Amino acid sequence: MSLTPRHFRSRACEGDGVTHTCVFFHAHPDDEALFTSGTMALLAAEGHRVVLVVATAGDQGLAAPDSLGDNALGDVRMCELHASARVLGCARVEYLGYADSGLDGAAATDGRVAFAKADVDEAAGRLAAILREENADLLTTYDPAGGYGHPDHVRVHHVGARAAQLAGTPRVLEATVDRHLLLRALRLIGRVYRFPAEFDVDSFERAFSAREEITHRIDVRRYANAKRASLTAHATQATGGDSVRTVAALRRLPGPLFRLVLGTEWYVQRDAAPGTRLTHPLAGLATTHPTPTEVAPAPRGLRPPGPTPTEVAPAPRGLRPPGPTPTAAADR
Ligand SMILES: [Zn+2]
Repeated sequence: MSLTPRHFRSRACEGDGVTHTCVFFHAHPDDEALFTSGTMALLAAEGHRVVLVVATAGDQGLAAPDSLGDNALGDVRMCELHASARVLGCARVEYLGYADSGLDGAAATDGRVAFAKADVDEAAGRLAAILREENADLLTTYDPAGGYGHPDHVRVHHVGARAAQLAGTPRVLEATVDRHLLLRALRLIGRVYRFPAEFDVDSFERAFSAREEITHRIDVRRYANAKRASLTAHATQATGGDSVRTVAALRRLPGPLFRLVLGTEWYVQRDAAPGTRLTHPLAGLATTHPTPTEVAPAPRGLRPPGPTPTEVAPAPRGLRPPGPTPTAAADR
């Protein structure tokens, strides 16, 4: 018997083992590694079905030409995405078929529609079809700023919100970064490292999300190895460009520093009550969400030992770079 998504849709596998289907929607291959890989690894380890969807193949990314051979960058990056998905425990990977718009949103697209210019309803329809097929309980998108403002990332926010509406997906979490911590870290780094002239730390005042907006802080330190392996899978994104690439810099961090810098993932649930502070992406999610008509029991032993959504460890105190206490920088 081949196992279809539906076979994994048990609502009561064993004891407390209620499993859910979680769809992670990203703009480009490697965004999942940077922003949500720890959460994905955590959910997969707990026995949930994790599905990864990218809008584009990242064909406008930088990469050293000799890292591609005769292959198109988009093809290589999709292979890297599948490798990343494997180490994170994803059950399915999908590509919505749009072209990478590039940072300025004006890249050539070989006849495909650039995602930043895609019709929101049309793109949302493609994603909603996957959400319906999976009977997804959770969809992750991005904050309205699109994190640091890449036009494809902004589109993920709008398309994701619309798709969840179309498919009736009960929970939408916007993957983001705690802006306060990010600014504090960048200003600390700026004391000892000269950023390139075009790198404007103050521009991050409008990036990602304010601390007060963040509803979910997920401690992913236990999944640091999976996160590093996910980053490493995106080999082309450690090459190209004139300076050290983010992916390359992050994956080379020594263990303790890696867990410190990348040990938390942040999300905003827009419809949560003010003051919501949760430490698991599925915490409080109703288990009576309409179930498909033909639900088969999930395979026994799907759920490895680990904390259940209601018993998770408290989130770490946050991203604190090594060095002097950051109060002065934080209060700037
Ligand atoms: Zn991206």
